[in-house]
Amino acid sequence: MKIKQIDVFQLDLPYSGGVYSLSGGREYSVFDATIVRVLTDSGIEGWGESTPFGSNYIAAHAKGVRAGIDEIAPSLLGKDPRHLDRINEVMDNALTGHNHAKTPLDVACWDIFGKSVEMPVCDLLGGNTNELLPLISSIYAGEPDDMRERVQRHRDLGYRGHSIKLGNDPHDNANRIEACLADRKKEEYFIVDANGGLTVESALRLLNILPSGLDFVLEAPCATWRENLSLRRRTSVPIIWDELALNEEDILQIAVEDGADGIGLKISKNGGLTKCRRQRDICLSAGYTMSVQDTTGSDIAFAAIVHLGQTLPKKYLRCILDCRDMVTVKTADGDFDVVNGFVSAPQSFGLGVTPRLDVLGNPVISYK
Ligand SMILES: [Mg+2]
Repeated sequence: MKIKQIDVFQLDLPYSGGVYSLSGGREYSVFDATIVRVLTDSGIEGWGESTPFGSNYIAAHAKGVRAGIDEIAPSLLGKDPRHLDRINEVMDNALTGHNHAKTPLDVACWDIFGKSVEMPVCDLLGGNTNELLPLISSIYAGEPDDMRERVQRHRDLGYRGHSIKLGNDPHDNANRIEACLADRKKEEYFIVDANGGLTVESALRLLNILPSGLDFVLEAPCATWRENLSLRRRTSVPIIWDELALNEEDILQIAVEDGADGIGLKISKNGGLTKCRRQRDICLSAGYTMSVQDTTGSDIAFAAIVHLGQTLPKKYLRCILDCRDMVTVKTADGDFDVVNGFVSAPQSFGLGVTPRLDVLGNPVISYK
């Protein structure tokens, strides 16, 4: 089997909640998605998506995704899409770094692989755990009472996990955390996610202000390795790495430094399913809990999240993100129904998605 054509689609995904606010004054109201279709000489096609959160989230941006694909795609023509490690070598030889550009191509090849052997992607990634996957909400930074209400709305839908975003001021952040945890149920899991926006000083002040006994993990407190490691040495709050854990080397080094208690794997941030599979295994070796997410995205991105999440032993999987929740556009159909806050991977072959071609429109570019 050979790749004979790669089509690239672009579309805007408006944020479902209006304006999404993150630490550092960052705001997002629309996400720029890149979706690819990889066609083969056997007639099987595969799909993948890459939607960066915004240009100032990590070192990735939507125009760069398409520019990166432009560097890579010609090298993939004629290659066997089922040889995923070889596909990733070709991509790494064509372009250094740029996880977001490689992800949709990698995911599309997994989709093809699954369809070609009539297996779901999760079975190819190691096998379905047959566990139901708990969803996590994404509660952007706002007024404490409003955040508490948004947590409750997700709780009413059955969500067990909640990702609470912070602003800058330690006292405002303490109020946000206390409000969001005020109605905490026993089975719930709270990530307090600073998205790298705190200094060590402001993080320590925040943790000192908070009453003791609040059950949460602190994700991505600071922007740099030095700061996070310094904070890690001075608090007993479990620390999760996200924006600074981008690849296998990072996670190995985090383990060497004893820098974390868990990792946030995001399919596009971490370079696609092939690389996420390796990172998952390193995390398991290190005993790290994981959440499986993406840097926003629509139905195709969500399918990849579900298939990877579906391979994680229950003990290590904290939650997955239903990124579909965050956008108002539906790009594909599939059997990914959420029941009382849980979802599981479909039995259909590949990713199990049928893209809506009328929504995607015409490719912005094709390589053949
Ligand atoms: Mg995060």
